[in-house]
Amino acid sequence: MTRLIFLGPPGAGKGTQAQILAASFEVPHISTGDLLRAAVSQGTPLGQQAQAYMDQGELVPDQLILDMMKERLTQADAASGWILDGFPRNVPQAIALDQMLASLNQHYDCVVNLDTPDDVLVQRMLARGRKDDAEDVIRRRLEVYREQTAPVIDFYSDRNLIPVNGNQPLDAVTSSLKQAIQAPKQIA
Ligand code: ADP
Repeated sequence: MTRLIFLGPPGAGKGTQAQILAASFEVPHISTGDLLRAAVSQGTPLGQQAQAYMDQGELVPDQLILDMMKERLTQADAASGWILDGFPRNVPQAIALDQMLASLNQHYDCVVNLDTPDDVLVQRMLARGRKDDAEDVIRRRLEVYREQTAPVIDFYSDRNLIPVNGNQPLDAVTSSLKQAIQAPKQIA
């Protein structure tokens, strides 16, 4: 049973690493960004409401995200574990996640914070070339990260928070993550 929460700035490689670990631990990789992009491309009501926020690098309103995550976490495949990527992205979402997990009678194992310097983040995002990876939108996403998501690190600071250096080659990050996750720890 693996239940991990991935934190880190945009461009830190959360998505890539979360996907690798999810395949290795055989649990679903639940990425709010991927779920939202799928909703946008399918033109669902959620997608229609979320698109403008995403294009501008702003957070999609909490209620939309929380409804989406409640639905995702109650699907059958999530009963045996998950890796969360992109959620929670502010303190109210972190508080709501605690409530959701309590109601599902689930506990996360640990929170991984993928530390990466800003200049590396910008380079990686520019190279990726996603629709919201234009330079002004990237700058805004980093600002939103500092203002709203960085406080989530403090929220988890005494609750199995593990820092991992994201500024290493891809394979080295994966090894660091596996080592950190498998180290003895208390159940949160
Ligand atoms: P990145 O980490 O590179 O910024 P994501 O794919 O995680 O990319 O997110 C892309 C966009 O989706 C965000 O800029 C934001 O608009 C929206 N988004 C993703 N997750 C959340 C969330 N938990 N709360 C609010 N908005 C979100």
